[in-house]
Amino acid sequence: MNCPLCNHDSNVLFEKDGYPIRECVHCHHQYAELDLTPTHPTQIYDDSYFFDGGDGYPNYLREAELLIEHGRRYAKLLRHYTDVGTVFDVGSAAGFILKGFAEAGWQAYGIEPNDSMAAYAREVLHLDVTTGALEEFEMPHQFDLVTMIQVIAHFYDVRQAFDVVSRGLRSGGLLLIETWDRDSFPARMLGANWHEYSPPSVVHWFSLDGLNWFLQSYGFEAIAHGRPSKWLKGVHAKSLVRYKLDDIAGGKHLTHLVRAIPDNIKIPYPFFDLFWGLYKRL
Ligand SMILES: [Zn+2]
Repeated sequence: MNCPLCNHDSNVLFEKDGYPIRECVHCHHQYAELDLTPTHPTQIYDDSYFFDGGDGYPNYLREAELLIEHGRRYAKLLRHYTDVGTVFDVGSAAGFILKGFAEAGWQAYGIEPNDSMAAYAREVLHLDVTTGALEEFEMPHQFDLVTMIQVIAHFYDVRQAFDVVSRGLRSGGLLLIETWDRDSFPARMLGANWHEYSPPSVVHWFSLDGLNWFLQSYGFEAIAHGRPSKWLKGVHAKSLVRYKLDDIAGGKHLTHLVRAIPDNIKIPYPFFDLFWGLYKRL
């Protein structure tokens, strides 16, 4: 299976949960070897992902406040680079991050493969969120800003996704991407045990340099980057930790400690294995 970004050969790095994880010999992109089809996003992001725990969320809607804050923080950051205008958010889920932008004055649109989530964004938050996958979509007009917060690691066709965005972002418009960093210290230290090597929900592992290189070919210039500050709700952190502890020998004995964490407490996510990059369309 050739590299989905540059089509060169690749080698298998290791296997995770039955899926070979490959690295491109040319651009070093890492990806899971699996047959990705247009139904991939709706299969992975079914309602159980948002509500049943595991590597997903015990109840996504309880994350509302933290995610709206996350959107507000990015909207504030963007004030240094652009005036408010129209924003198109890819993988909006229930629309919370997008709501943070809307509150800051952005005219907000989005797309989300899970229909229950998209319906929540439309009906409860009154946001213009379409149900669907970006790869099959044509953006209705050219936007001033496109946001992809923890989305690109899940695309079933990365090139097609950025073809759509290149057409749907005006010249001079901005693209904000937040994703996992395969070059981060935790990722390199933990190797195959890094928690974000979790196919089939995560299928691509980028680095800032790799993403900058790839986006150049789509006419994007990198203008800023950083590490997002991220918070988890106690209930989500507990669900993730329990899910991981179940995998390791003796882990079950630690779960009583984890249970003592209050559900509503805000816990900083301490791993610094995410990055954000801001790009200008030339
Ligand atoms: Zn490649």
